[in-house]
Parts: sequence; C-alpha cells; structure tokens
Amino acid sequence: MGTKKPKTTGCRQFFGKFDDAKAFLRDEFALGRPVRVSRLNLKDAGDCDLINGHFYIRIDRKLCEDVAILILFHEWSHALSWKDTRRHDHGQAWGKAYSKVWSRWVGER
Ligand SMILES: [Zn+2]
Repeated sequence: MGTKKPKTTGCRQFFGKFDDAKAFLRDEFALGRPVRVSRLNLKDAGDCDLINGHFYIRIDRKLCEDVAILILFHEWSHALSWKDTRRHDHGQAWGKAYSKVWSRWVGER
C-alpha cells in the first residue's frame, strides 16, 4: 500500500480568514451565550450543540478554509435560530438566519 495522495480541494487557502469569520459572527451575530468553536477530525462537516447553556460548534479540520467558513455559518445559523426553538433542521428559521449572516458577510446590509 502506497502513501495516499493528499486530496486537492480546489480551494485556495486564506490564512486567518476563518478567524476573521469567527470574529465577524461574534461581533455581528452574538448568540447571547458562551460559544466555543473548534476544528477537529469529524465524520461530518460540522455540528452544533447546546449543552448547559453553552453553544459548541465543531468544524471538520480537514476542510479547506473557504468551505470551513461556509460550514461555520451553517452551524452558527442553527444556534441563531435556536433562540426561538431548538430544532435541528433546515427550515425557515434556520434559512432566514443563514441568509442574514451570508448577506452581511458579502457586504449587503
Ligand atoms: Zn445543519
């Protein structure tokens, strides 16, 4: 068995952009509770949980930075939509939250 070639993702790496995205979310879409964002080896791209009043957002560390940011926005939008109801789905509340985050990130107010 040979050494596996690293997967090419087609994404450019933007060093520090993920941290910028985290700071942007904390500043502009505060959750009103402590939130921890971690990059780990996961089976899924990411997940979000609310445990004892703390949000835990986990993002797969194998993702390139641009994709990791999209997943971060996705998971953060779950947390935002849980202000009203804690439903782990991709319904209207989640979609509206994601839309607001994305619009502001790309500069549309
Ligand atoms: Zn989701």
